[in-house]
Amino acid sequence: MNAEIISVGSELLLGQIVNTNAAYLSKELAGLGIDVYYQTTVGDNDKRLRAVTEKALERADVLIFTGGLGPTKDDLTKETVAAILGKSLIYDEPSLAKIADFFKKRNKPMSENNKKQALIIEDSKVLVNRYGMAPGMVIESGEKCIVLLPGPPKEMIPMFDDELRPHFSNEGDSSTVIESRVLRFLGIGESQLETEILDLIEQQTNPTIAPLAGDGEVTLRLTVKHQKADLRQQLLDDVEGQIQKRVESYFYGYGDASIVEQTFLQLQEKKCTIATAESFTGGLFAKELSSNPGAGDVLLGGIVAYATSAKKELLNISEHIIENEGVVSHQCAKEMALQAKRKCNSDIAISFTGVAGPTSQEGKRIGEVYIAIAGIANEPVSYQLDLSGTRNEIANKAVKYGCFYLL
Ligand code: ATP
Ligand code: MG
Repeated sequence: MNAEIISVGSELLLGQIVNTNAAYLSKELAGLGIDVYYQTTVGDNDKRLRAVTEKALERADVLIFTGGLGPTKDDLTKETVAAILGKSLIYDEPSLAKIADFFKKRNKPMSENNKKQALIIEDSKVLVNRYGMAPGMVIESGEKCIVLLPGPPKEMIPMFDDELRPHFSNEGDSSTVIESRVLRFLGIGESQLETEILDLIEQQTNPTIAPLAGDGEVTLRLTVKHQKADLRQQLLDDVEGQIQKRVESYFYGYGDASIVEQTFLQLQEKKCTIATAESFTGGLFAKELSSNPGAGDVLLGGIVAYATSAKKELLNISEHIIENEGVVSHQCAKEMALQAKRKCNSDIAISFTGVAGPTSQEGKRIGEVYIAIAGIANEPVSYQLDLSGTRNEIANKAVKYGCFYLL
């Protein structure tokens, strides 16, 4: 089954709002195993909306519209779609009653415009709008499925979640269940990951493999369809096994939780306390960790020592290290971690030192970063990275790598 998302609204074409609806729907439909082949954006114009709809009816099984279900004259999605399908518009009585009630409670008259929001295309299945007035609808027309959703994301997203997701999950063979498994990777670009497993992506139909990149991380979503739970697991395990054989060294976890959340949860589970010593990250690691509820179980404290003088004062970094190795070095990172652990009396500590730019330092390149972890008994371990990007990007990536080494 393939879909086309049609975003209706002149403000999208004018660049006044970003099309977050299409991004949301594409991601969710991929999770349901429905391929989105086209995303189309069209203004509030009957003629062009018609043209786009006719084209989509030729090339897609499922058409999902967002926007243009409201009360104003420029809201014309259902009128145009009804005309193309040769269907009329009728009032959805529960929606009409809801709108009438709304105006009655506010002692205001209900205009024809407002009533228009309760109109639905005949023979459609109504999708209840819990956060607004205009209902959504699903129309099955021949082989095609046409869905109309409201524009405001706060109405559209709950409607998709509560009403449309179950509708699609029950499509076709009602005993077939769709299940997804998300694998998360760090330190490998999306294109490199895709190259490593391109043959698997191309061969696989069940489960399908969908890569997604963002914020320096890459995820792979495996989506399987089968009636039997044990077979679904088997199919997912098989393909995951083949993927892991090639890229396991970059893998860090499953699901939707970010690498910081996963690190936090693991530390919490192990009842392991941590302290931090941060230079160019300016406390970002501690900040990210402390965003998790229950952070107090895990994060004891952190020292931000940005200038070399502060590294001496706050972390007792010796002249010897500063003169011989520099503050951007394995030795300095290890000493920073040891000192943070000692000062906070934590089980472990992590440190970050490096060059975030805009200029190089100690003759070291922008993006040269050292991260050290002082563990429970052993000598601290340190890692060298060569990161790219702006100051903030380098700091953000460093924090993620810090988590990666902790996991
Ligand atoms: P309303 O009843 O509010 O008029 P509607 O279904 O008619 O809803 P539109 O009038 O097209 O929807 O859009 C209303 C608002 O919803 C827009 O001003 C915008 O804030 C948001 N919106 C619409 N389409 C999108 C989209 N594709 N992505 C993100 N936001 C959107
Ligand atoms: Mg509107």
